[in-house]
Amino acid sequence: MKIAMIGTGYVGLVSGVCFSDFGHEVVCVDKDAGKIARLEQGEVPIYEPGLDRLMERNVEAGRLTFTTDLGKALQGVDAVFIAVGTPTRRGDGHADLTYVMAAAEEVAKLAPNGVVIVTKSTVPVGTNRKVAETVRAANPDLDFDVASNPEFLREGAAIDDFMKPDRVVVGVESERAAKVMSDIYRPLYLRDFPIVTTDLESAEMIKYAANAFLAIKITFINEVAALCEKVGADVKQVSRGMGLDGRIGPKFLHAGPGYGGSCFPKDTKALARIGQEYASPMRITETVIDVNEDIKRRMIGKLKDLCGDDFNGKRVAVLGVTFKPNTDDMRDAPALTIVPALVGGGAEVRVCDPQGKREGERLLPGVSWIADPYEAAKDADLLVILTEWNEFRAVDLEVMSRTMRRAAMADLRNVYDPEDVSAAGFEAYVGIGRNGFG
Ligand code: NAD
Repeated sequence: MKIAMIGTGYVGLVSGVCFSDFGHEVVCVDKDAGKIARLEQGEVPIYEPGLDRLMERNVEAGRLTFTTDLGKALQGVDAVFIAVGTPTRRGDGHADLTYVMAAAEEVAKLAPNGVVIVTKSTVPVGTNRKVAETVRAANPDLDFDVASNPEFLREGAAIDDFMKPDRVVVGVESERAAKVMSDIYRPLYLRDFPIVTTDLESAEMIKYAANAFLAIKITFINEVAALCEKVGADVKQVSRGMGLDGRIGPKFLHAGPGYGGSCFPKDTKALARIGQEYASPMRITETVIDVNEDIKRRMIGKLKDLCGDDFNGKRVAVLGVTFKPNTDDMRDAPALTIVPALVGGGAEVRVCDPQGKREGERLLPGVSWIADPYEAAKDADLLVILTEWNEFRAVDLEVMSRTMRRAAMADLRNVYDPEDVSAAGFEAYVGIGRNGFG
C-alpha cells in the first residue's frame, strides 16, 4: 500500500514509521519545514523510546520519506491519514478543527481518484462527515471515501502500543474503504488483535468515551486518595484491593497529582462540549474536569504545608515536569500549575527532568534547569517528585537528605515508602493518599 501521513507529531510520526515497518510505502508530510528538515537528516524531533532506530531502519529500506510537498506525497496513494492537532478551542472547550479541515481541503485538490481519506486525529462526532463535505465542496470531481481511525497509543510506549494494540477501531461506510483499511492493518492480523469496524459516528465516539472513562478512573482514585488521607487509610493498598477485582482492573488506579497531557484534558472538555451541544449533558465528565483542577491545586497546599506555609526564600528541587515519564511532552502537565505557584510564591525552583527542558524552558519561566537530581536537591528546603521517571525511582535518599538544607519530600507519585524516607534521614514527607510524617 502507498500511504501519506499528514502531521509528523507524536501520533503522525509514530504511525507513519510503524506503517512503513509493516512494509507499506509511507510519505510523512508536515507544514513545519524545520521539522521535515530534521527528519530528513535522520533526527527525531520528539522523544519517544525506540522511534529513532525504527525510523532509521525504514528510511534505509527506502519505504519511508519526509516532505513538505503534499502534492508529491499524494501521488499514487491508496490512503492519506490526517494526524494533525485538535487542541481545545479558546473559550468554549470545543476541539479546534481548523487544522483537520485545512488538511482535508488541501487533500481534496491534490489527491488521486480512489483515495481513502482517513482521520486519525481525535475529532468530535460528525467530523468525518464534515471532512467528506469539505472535500466534495473543494473538488466535486474527486472519487474518494472517508474513514475514521482514532489512535489509542500512549506517549512513552507508542511503538509497542501501535504494533500490539488492544484493538484497532475503524469507522467506514463503504466496502472500498473497509478493504483499504483492512489491507493497511493486515500485517497486524498475525498477532490476532480485534479490529472493531463501525460506522463513522461510533468510531469517533469510541475515542472520546474511552479517554473520558480513563480520566474518570484516575480522578476517582485521586479523590479516594484525598479521603484516605483524612481517614488514615493508604491509597496504594486500597488501589490494590480494588484493582484485583476483575471488573475493575488495576490500571489507571495510581493516585497522583491530577491527570494532564496532550489528550485527557482536551478530550474530556471536548466530550463535555459535545454533550452540551446535543442537550445530552456528560455530567460525570464535566465534574471530573473540575475535580481534576481541584486536585492539581490541592498539591500546592501540600507543598505549602511542608514549607511552613510560605514558599518565599525557599529552595525547591522539582524532579520531573513532563506529564508522564518517557516523553518530552509538557502539554497540560500538572507541573504547569504547580511550578508557577512555587515561583510566584517566591521560591527558588531547581528543575531536573531527563527530557523536559526543551519544552519546559519556554513554559516554566523563572526556574533553573539542573541535569543531575542530587545537584538539584543540594541545599534545598524541599524535594518534590512530580514525574516518576526511572531516574528518580531509586535515588540514594541518604545522600540527598544529607545535602539538603531541610530534608523534606513531597512524593506526588508515591514512589518511595515513607519508612525508607524516614530511615534515610528526611524530617518530613507527604505522599498521596497515605500518612506522611514531620
Ligand atoms: P502534534 O501537535 O504533536 O502534531 C501535529 C502536527 O501536525 C504538527 O507537526 C503540525 O505542524 C502538523 N500539521 C498541522 N497542520 C498541518 C497541515 N495542514 N499539513 C501538514 N502538517 C500539519 O499532535 P499529536 O499529539 O500528534 O496529536 C495529533 C492528533 O492525535 C490529535 O487529534 C490528538 O488528540 C490525537 N492523539 C494524540 C495522542 C498523543 O498521545 N499525543 C494519542 C492519541 C490520539
